[in-house]
Amino acid sequence: MVTRRITYRLYPNRQQETQLHWARRMHCCLYNVAIANRKTQYQRFNHSVDYFEQQNSLPEFKQVWTEYKKLGSQTLQATLKRVDFAFKRFFKGLGKYPKFKASRHYSGWDYPNKQSWKVNTNNGINGYLNLRDLDITVQMRGKARTWGVPKTCTVFWRNGKWYASITVECCPGRLTGLGAIGLDFGSKVAIATSDGELIESPKFLKRAMENIAQLSKGLRRKRKPEKRKVKASRRWKKCQAQINKVKRKVANQRQDWTHKVAAQIVSGNSLVATEKLNLKGMTRKAKKGSKRKCQKAGLNRNLLDVAIGMLRESIKYKVVEAGGVFLEAPTKQLKPTQRCNECWELTPKTLSDRLHICSNKSCGHTADRDINSAQVCLTWARGLERASLDAESRISTDCGSMKQMWAKKRY
Ligand SMILES: [Zn+2]
Repeated sequence: MVTRRITYRLYPNRQQETQLHWARRMHCCLYNVAIANRKTQYQRFNHSVDYFEQQNSLPEFKQVWTEYKKLGSQTLQATLKRVDFAFKRFFKGLGKYPKFKASRHYSGWDYPNKQSWKVNTNNGINGYLNLRDLDITVQMRGKARTWGVPKTCTVFWRNGKWYASITVECCPGRLTGLGAIGLDFGSKVAIATSDGELIESPKFLKRAMENIAQLSKGLRRKRKPEKRKVKASRRWKKCQAQINKVKRKVANQRQDWTHKVAAQIVSGNSLVATEKLNLKGMTRKAKKGSKRKCQKAGLNRNLLDVAIGMLRESIKYKVVEAGGVFLEAPTKQLKPTQRCNECWELTPKTLSDRLHICSNKSCGHTADRDINSAQVCLTWARGLERASLDAESRISTDCGSMKQMWAKKRY
C-alpha cells in the first residue's frame, strides 16, 4: 500500500464559491492569529507557545469568535499545524521567521481525517466532493490513475481556480519491459540514453519568455501596490493575472511532458541507472562580483526549465511502481562524464567539450559526451548486478558436476 495524491479541479457555483472564499479567509485569519500569539507571548512574557497549547485553547477561542464554530475543528487544528510547521522550519534554520499572510495569498486548508468530508466518484474519475463543515457538495473533474481508499483532502485556490488534492491509499501497478538503460541528464539535451538516443529539452519557458517579457513591460507601466499607501490599479491586477496564467501554463506543460517521457522510458526498461546529482550546487547563483553572472543565470534557467529533479523523481517512482530497480551511481567516485565506456580510463573535460575522445591511445573511443556518460552509468549498474549474482553463486553449493556446467553454458 502506498499513498498517492490526485488533484481535481473543482467547479463551485457562485454561492458555493463565496462560501469557499469565506472559509479560506477564516483559515487565513486563524493562521495570522496563531503567529501573533506565539510572537507576543515570547516577546512580552518570555513564554514559548507550542502546538498543543494552541490546540487546547481552540474551544475557548471559538467561544469568543463564534463564527469559527461553523468550521470543523480538525481543519482548524490542521491550520495550526501549518503554523507549527513553519516555526519548526524556522528553528531548524531552514526558513525565515513566519510571516503574516494576506488573504489573497493564502491558498487553502486541509481535512486531515475522512470524517469531515466525503468524495463521491466512480473509480476516481470525476464526481462530487462533499464538505461537511461548509455543508456544500461541489462538482469536481479529474482522473486518478489508480483509485483507492481516500484519506486526506486539501482544498486550495490558485490563479482564480479551485482545486481539491486528495490522497488515497492504493496499490498501483505498471507494465514494464526487460530492458536496462543508463540515463544522463543535462541542459543541452534533456536526457541522453545509453541506447544512443538524445531526448531534446522542450524549452517551454524559453518559448514563453517573449510573451512574459512583453506583459511584464505593460505591468511596469501600471500602478503597482505600495505598502499601506497605494492600492494596485485594476489594470495592474488584470495584467498580473495574465502573467500568472502564462507561467502556470508553462508549469503545466512541463509537468505533462515529464510524465510522458518518464512513462515511455519505464515502459521498456526495468533497470534504470543514473548518476547522483547535486542539483542545489548545479543551480546555485553565481558568486558575487563574478564576470559570468548572466551566463550562469541563463544556464540555471535552462537547467530548471527541464526540471531535472522532477524528471528523475517521476522516473524513480514509476520504476519502483513497476517493480524494477533504480540505481544511482556515486558521481565523485565514478566520474561518468570523464570515464571512457570502452577502457574505463579518465579523460578530463570542460563543460564545452561535447565529444568524448578517449585519451588512452590504444583505445581512442569516440562518442557523444552525454551518451558515453549514460553508458558508463549502465556499465556500472551491470557490474553491480554481476557482483551481486557472484555473491549469490558463491553461497550456492557449486560442486562442478556436468549438470551444473551445462546449466551455466546456457547463459
Ligand atoms: Zn577509452
